[in-house]
Amino acid sequence: MDFKFNEDQEMLSKAARSFADEFLAEYVEGIEENDEMPREVIEEAAARDFMAVTIPEEYDGLGMGHLARIILLEEISRVSAALGMLLQVWHLGIHPIVRFGSEEQKQKYLPRMAAGELLAGLAVTESTGGSDPTAVQTEAVKDGDDYILNGRKVYITSSHLSKVVGVMARMADDPKSFTIFLLDEDCPGWRAGRQEKKIGFKGSNTGDLIMEDCRVPAANIIGKIGDGLKIGLNSIGEVGRAGMAAVSLGILAASLEDAVKFSNSRVLGGKAINKNQAIQIKLADMYMDLEMSRLLAYKAATLGDEGQRCDTEMAMAKYYSSEASVRSAKAACDIHGGLGYMMETPTQRYLRDALLVISSAGTTEIQQIIVSKAAIKKYS
Ligand SMILES: Cc1cc2nc3c(=O)[nH]c(=O)nc-3n(C[C@H](O)[C@H](O)[C@H](O)COP(=O)(O)OP(=O)(O)OC[C@H]3O[C@@H](n4cnc5c(N)ncnc54)[C@H](O)[C@@H]3O)c2cc1C
Repeated sequence: MDFKFNEDQEMLSKAARSFADEFLAEYVEGIEENDEMPREVIEEAAARDFMAVTIPEEYDGLGMGHLARIILLEEISRVSAALGMLLQVWHLGIHPIVRFGSEEQKQKYLPRMAAGELLAGLAVTESTGGSDPTAVQTEAVKDGDDYILNGRKVYITSSHLSKVVGVMARMADDPKSFTIFLLDEDCPGWRAGRQEKKIGFKGSNTGDLIMEDCRVPAANIIGKIGDGLKIGLNSIGEVGRAGMAAVSLGILAASLEDAVKFSNSRVLGGKAINKNQAIQIKLADMYMDLEMSRLLAYKAATLGDEGQRCDTEMAMAKYYSSEASVRSAKAACDIHGGLGYMMETPTQRYLRDALLVISSAGTTEIQQIIVSKAAIKKYS
């Protein structure tokens, strides 16, 4: 399998790196302090077409695929995992419309999403347990040509910012059937609720979405009634996991870069600390974790771009890279000694952010179940 970037991917990678290093880096301290993503950062990312990457060209997007998206999110998350998360979930909200939406829905939403006007999200998780999507209790009742939704989603990324959210609900007349409804500005009765205070991903908004007699026209159903689980699992399995793997790549790259820089300049006993084998072993493991995570993510993305099934490979990429980013961020803290735990050094941020990647888009245990099922099927 050849992972050489094509010309467009190469250009996107350079554009993302220059945005991250020359524009975004200036904002990171403020994002951390205020736990808020400045409007101008989102607008600048949109102006550079980062929201439009996976939207087809006929709807004003760039028409690029999984690999391009991973390249983009890695470069951005190297500087701000929080903005990487915001973009990843925006793409996640876009995916069900691109893949399963009606022509009317595509024309209505995609050009405005590509332009950065409509921030999107996907809301599946409820307090009954995110690992089991069939535990969803939000209920949809048919009322004429509309549906009335009642329920509460939790831990939803961009809950307080999104203008269009795909919400998974259980059908009142068939409790084993789930459907994804698009809530937009024309649907009265939905609002953001509690906002979470997190230990990491400062600047990435997470909170509740509350639906109280929320009226949604039938035209806002994605796919058909009863397609909700299929669409939700496909979106999380392919796009959500790829996105979180890419955010992990950014944390892995940042941890390694900072660890190398510091270990070059920190002189103890007359020599740079990376002349010691114990530090070299840590750097070797960090580099291998980055490369192995990239190989898994690029392979999964390439399969997806070729139109092949890639859910197991995405689960492997997300599982490996999220756990690796925790190992690597901790190693970066260790290499910095006491400085690694001080707020002035970003390594503590990498560790706080990495811990969160493990739980979103399916926990490590859920990825282990998916991967082990594939192994048993293949090798029995
Ligand atoms: C910052 C953040 C952003 C998020 N954004 C979104 C979003 O935008 N949209 C959205 O819908 N959701 C979102 N989530 C929710 C996320 O997908 C869930 O947190 C995740 O799926 C786990 O669900 P849970 O927290 O309810 O844990 P639970 O499902 O209650 O799991 C608790 C523990 O049990 C383990 N476990 C569960 N089932 C099994 C099993 N069968 N075998 C072994 N172990 C098991 C889990 O691995 C975990 O360790 C977000 C979460 C976070 C933290």
